[in-house]
Amino acid sequence: MKQFKNIILLCTTAALTASCGNGWLDLQPSTSVNTGEALNYVGDAKYALNGIYSAMQDAYLYSGRVVYYADVTGDDMQAVSSTKRTGSYYLFSYTPDNAPSTHWSYLYSMIQSCNTILDIIDDLPLEGASEKDRADYKGQALTLRALALFDLTRIYGYPYTKDSGASLGVPVVKTQLLVADKPARNTVAECYAAIIDDLTQAVTLLGDGYNKGRVNKWAAEALLSRVYLYKGDNQNALTTGQDAIKGAEENNYELWSNADYPTAWGNDAGSGNPGEVLFEIVNTTTDSPGKESLGYLNSYSGYDDYCITTSFYAMLRDDPDDVRLKLLKFDGKKYAYVNKYQPQEGETIQDANIPLLRLSEVYLNVAEAAFKLGNVAVAAQYLNPIVERANPERHVEAANLTLGRILIERRKELVAEGHRLYDAMRNGLKCHRYDVPSKDIASTAKLTGTYPDEYDWTYYKIVLPIPKAEMDTNPNMKQNPEY
Ligand code: CA
Repeated sequence: MKQFKNIILLCTTAALTASCGNGWLDLQPSTSVNTGEALNYVGDAKYALNGIYSAMQDAYLYSGRVVYYADVTGDDMQAVSSTKRTGSYYLFSYTPDNAPSTHWSYLYSMIQSCNTILDIIDDLPLEGASEKDRADYKGQALTLRALALFDLTRIYGYPYTKDSGASLGVPVVKTQLLVADKPARNTVAECYAAIIDDLTQAVTLLGDGYNKGRVNKWAAEALLSRVYLYKGDNQNALTTGQDAIKGAEENNYELWSNADYPTAWGNDAGSGNPGEVLFEIVNTTTDSPGKESLGYLNSYSGYDDYCITTSFYAMLRDDPDDVRLKLLKFDGKKYAYVNKYQPQEGETIQDANIPLLRLSEVYLNVAEAAFKLGNVAVAAQYLNPIVERANPERHVEAANLTLGRILIERRKELVAEGHRLYDAMRNGLKCHRYDVPSKDIASTAKLTGTYPDEYDWTYYKIVLPIPKAEMDTNPNMKQNPEY
């Protein structure tokens, strides 16, 4: 019986996902989940969650587009050519009529699926499951809903720090919507409040042990520290990040070593060797996102879709002994690819797992928050493990520390993991696209287009337009300025 329900839920998720072209408000009643039939007991929530994690493997979600968006709209990475998948993002060439709609439809489909669980899990009978199971499943659904809403908010809404969240984000949807519902956009501040509400609740519910391919307490805290950092709530970013690091390390997570770093990305982590990835999308040969996945797009033996810029290469080459240079793969002497999406043993590159939350990021979150609070000693304490791992000969003295130094370390460490545009914009900084000639890679790699070479949060295209299908069907929906 449970297996049967599992199939229903997986199909439901697939059906929701497949209807993306029309926007989520156009869902036919037949594809809406009937929660009364689908979820009868607490244990059924586990199968419903499996369906959500499975949907997240899609290349339109976390095995591809949602991740690469912020890299190719920044200045550390670029499309290899204007006709690549990443080309229109890099060139900012989209209009309200042709802009991608999948960020919207797939992420809201994910939220709808989380809501099918959250709407009723408190009332389900245990039937062999425990209250601890109930809490953990609820915590997972809350974390995934927060993750999806956070991604929607940073894709469609301006940085919180630009206007204290006064501008429009996206609709906050905390219960299953009916087809007839036409919600309006909430402010960015209201989105952040909803995200923080879900995550702070999740942290009190989730299990603290390793859970392969699933979020646990430390993953939720890691994400929460990032959300606080984006919000400019540095005190909470600091304490939440510190708690995540302490708790994760007590549960055997640890930063990869200098020696392991170039290949650790391909490790098949387990409870005995969790490594530093707090949450990853697990892809396998029999359950693969295929050739649109990050592994395939980031490889010259795949679709060679996007690569690092010459200016990023020059920045990383600033220290020729930086271990992160070992992650670069060169296509002859033309382009350099980031080899972070490494397949696990026996797999091909398209089956590579996708690390979404790493301990390294949390160290950098704490370092940045501490510095902004004026606590340079703590900032240096959390920055140095990353600096010294990259090159054991290097060390940063607290007295010499600057915010710029911390942010450069963040760029070097998190490149190709979907951070750059957001990190520059939330700090009120510019992305700057320019070429630095090098004997190693093409000297004029920057693509010709109509985009500005420098842009900050005043450039209207740092947010995507609300998809046309949504604008056409929902009279309450407002478009982003200037689109
Ligand atoms: Ca894999």
